Amino acid sequence: MPTNVQAALAGLNAIRPTLTELYKDLHQHPELSFAEHRTAEVVAQRLSEIGLEVTTGVGHTGVVGVLRNGVGPTVLLRADFDALPVAEQTGLAYASTATGTDPDGTTVPVMHACGHDMHVSCLEGALRLLRNAAHLWSGTVLAVFQPAEEIGTGARAMIEDGLFERFGTPSVCLGQHVMPVPAGTVAAHPGPCFSASDSFRVTLHGTGGHGSRPEAAVDPVVMAAATVMRLQTVVSREIAGDDMAVVTVGSLHAGSKENIIPDSAELKLNIRSYDEEVRQTVLAAVRRIIHAESVAAGAPREPRIEPLGEFPVLVNTPEATEHTMDAFRDHFGDSRVFDSGRITGSEDVGLFAEAAGAPNCYWLFGGADPDTYARAAEAGRVAQDIPANHSPFFAPVIEPTLGTGVSAMVTAALAWLGPPQV
Ligand SMILES: [Zn+2]
Ligand SMILES: [Zn+2]
Repeated sequence: MPTNVQAALAGLNAIRPTLTELYKDLHQHPELSFAEHRTAEVVAQRLSEIGLEVTTGVGHTGVVGVLRNGVGPTVLLRADFDALPVAEQTGLAYASTATGTDPDGTTVPVMHACGHDMHVSCLEGALRLLRNAAHLWSGTVLAVFQPAEEIGTGARAMIEDGLFERFGTPSVCLGQHVMPVPAGTVAAHPGPCFSASDSFRVTLHGTGGHGSRPEAAVDPVVMAAATVMRLQTVVSREIAGDDMAVVTVGSLHAGSKENIIPDSAELKLNIRSYDEEVRQTVLAAVRRIIHAESVAAGAPREPRIEPLGEFPVLVNTPEATEHTMDAFRDHFGDSRVFDSGRITGSEDVGLFAEAAGAPNCYWLFGGADPDTYARAAEAGRVAQDIPANHSPFFAPVIEPTLGTGVSAMVTAALAWLGPPQV
């Protein structure tokens, strides 16, 4: 007797061609956060064909599909679908040549460099199989195709647009992300698993002047350099060795010419943490140092610190994660399921569970060619040879990535949906 999961997945081979076609189409037509108009249309059309109740425009460009199958739990399955301003360099036949307009109005190249096209394809496949296997379960599947994950605002936009009031409150929230680990594997970590992220733009004010007369100026270039260096001491000198935080100054701009002292400098900072107390310690230290370096340099004005965005820490509910991982181990076998540990990346998927008051399980699935990965691991060169998310070379192998993502989504959904009604 096949298990329910095996019975539901029996149709997987038959739908691989249409899923591959969907994946390549989305990969060739990536769209930036909140500009996912074509993507939303493609998703909505395919969900209608499958027979879901489809609503578009939820949280700007989000799409919701509801699959009702009698009385039972409501299970939220989430796939994000925005892309990034990255120029694709994979050389794939289906590589993107698309462009988009960034928030400053600049035309930028666009690429699915985080694999969200894979997430959409896997969820679409899972919905097909769950619809075909409706005799094996009961309840409601709430399929959430989320915009603007990369800027951390899409989940909140959908929630604020009445996601749960309009479509029902889920009893559990499930989602997955493709990662540069061997395709065919699945991983998760209970508890805090993706870091909180806080970003800021900092403007340091000096007094401009001729490069030959520093005594008549306050040089914001030196102020910026001292600030960047001093910020490196926050993690090394103020955070305990067994706590985790990252402070990165990812952008530093000042001046235009070698003999002009500019009147301001701009830094962009990103801060990561897993623990609220650590986060507050780091944020306070960063603000203190920025202000103190300004004072030390004799700045004519206080520096300006503007938030650029934030992600909360993502917490996997421990019992819900164990329950889902048990289902994965039953289906995939112990050798293909592992604990990922904590990830320093960030995600806004946890906002759904928080708003619903429901448990959350978010897992990872591999996208790297298993042989290439094995060779890189053997040579101790995984970080160098396996392109990670956001890299212009990030290119999940279509199989077994797609099949594994579909299987994981179906397996997890069936672990939480109700038994068939008699
Ligand atoms: Zn990303
Ligand atoms: Zn992502």
